Amino acid sequence: MSHETRMLIDGELLSGTQEFEVLNPATEEVVAMCADGTAADMDRAVAAARRAQDSTDWATDPGLRKRSILQLQKALEAEQEELRAELIAEVGCPVLTTYGPQLDAPLREALTWPAEMVDRFPWSRKLPDNDPFGVGYQSHREVWKEPVGVVGVIVPWNFPIEVTLSKLGPVLAMGNSCVLKPAPDTPLNANRIGRLIAEQTEIPHGIVNIVPSSDHLVGEVLTTSPLVDMVAFTGSTATGRRIMEAASSTLKRVFLELGGKSVNLILDDADFAATVPTAAGICMHAGQGCAMPTRMLVPFSRYEEAVELVKMGFEGVAYGDPTDPANLQGPQISAKQRDRVLGYIDKGIAEGATLVTGGGIPSGFDKGFFVEPTVFADVDNSMTIAREEIFGPVISVIGYEDDDHAVQIANDSEYGLSGAISSTDLERAMGIARRIRTGTLSINGGMWYGADAPFGGYKDSGIGRQCGIEGLEIFTETKTVGWPTGT
Ligand code: NAD
Repeated sequence: MSHETRMLIDGELLSGTQEFEVLNPATEEVVAMCADGTAADMDRAVAAARRAQDSTDWATDPGLRKRSILQLQKALEAEQEELRAELIAEVGCPVLTTYGPQLDAPLREALTWPAEMVDRFPWSRKLPDNDPFGVGYQSHREVWKEPVGVVGVIVPWNFPIEVTLSKLGPVLAMGNSCVLKPAPDTPLNANRIGRLIAEQTEIPHGIVNIVPSSDHLVGEVLTTSPLVDMVAFTGSTATGRRIMEAASSTLKRVFLELGGKSVNLILDDADFAATVPTAAGICMHAGQGCAMPTRMLVPFSRYEEAVELVKMGFEGVAYGDPTDPANLQGPQISAKQRDRVLGYIDKGIAEGATLVTGGGIPSGFDKGFFVEPTVFADVDNSMTIAREEIFGPVISVIGYEDDDHAVQIANDSEYGLSGAISSTDLERAMGIARRIRTGTLSINGGMWYGADAPFGGYKDSGIGRQCGIEGLEIFTETKTVGWPTGT
């Protein structure tokens, strides 16, 4: 398989002055050597985005935008199978996940929906004529939506295509230019997008620039440069905080999609046999998802029964080689992440939680960064494993007394990204859903996801929403104009 290793700056595919290794986390083999962008490359990319934004027709030609986004869509679809294999190699995601959120789901709509919305978005609205200051004549008044300008797009490694397309589609549809910085672990899918943009679309040079780098701090140029108007970031809460601080000196807009510690709340009337074992769904992609419900809340009245069923679910998880379609769980992205997950498991034990199953590196895996599906019981919501995002295949089972107590535990978290509720009484579940402070919620297994569905967090899980009308509006500025009636 051929990988694109070059970055894209001002319409040119460039090898750069240095390169870095991209590792396959399942085999530890080198997938490719990638161009290693420097701060100087990033500066050039930002300057190109600024120039393109200010001097091309991109912001004012909706037809060009729609056409070019659909050209990119077509080009990606033509390479869908190469992209699938590439994601499995650099992300370590099970092939199973590429049929859903890793690839096929976003590829279906993350670009096409914003492209359609170019025609349907409410770009302007009229306000009633009036004479607010009593100057003696009426004015027409209108509100116009315009692009924000140059957007720094910074993405993580866990669902790189999903996050990248869900940002790129709205950024471009709304008429902005951008500089995209992929995560150091997973740059190849982004470079591929760069090549397709350069070779198969009419997107003007400089409107999209893609600068991979082994150095996280190269991304900091996007958060400090006065030429950048906005930073759209998905990643950890710690980095999000740092970005917000850095962006404050130039008063950039910040759009932050951050971490989570979501609940899976099982009400006492739920069908336990059917719902509780499915908690093992958090092992999908080795637990490396921001919205995964890793705090499981079960009533004390049915606690032992629940723990047995969770254990059964986790012990049934197929894991290993991500190219094997039977596997739900692959490796952690890196040795560092695997060690971080193992560190949390040690902390759980040290703080008094009961390790029910898993807890280590599985036997028989001498290559790859694997961790066993792991269940902790007797977890108190104050323990580290209940408060911090582990980003591994680890669940904490927490008991509660009654519905009010469950809601109180659910909301007792710095995060507020997602969650799940199960009950045989939909109205009761809905009532609880209204009390939980998170950006998305699944009730009885319902799926909220979609290019038209806003996604994001309350509290430390972020600021702003990706996708949906909200995810288009966030990439716009608002201008209000008035002119005398009769002119
Ligand atoms: P991370 O915060 O370490 O890195 C994310 C990106 O930020 C990378 O591209 C990285 O190179 C860049 N970066 C790091 N420091 C920077 C700095 N000072 N300035 C500019 N850029 C910088 O996150 P990660 O480990 O790549 O991803 C995992 C995290 O992402 C988890 O916390 C997860 O919950 C979160 N995430 C959130 C969502 C969401 O939509 N809420 C989706 C996916 C992942």
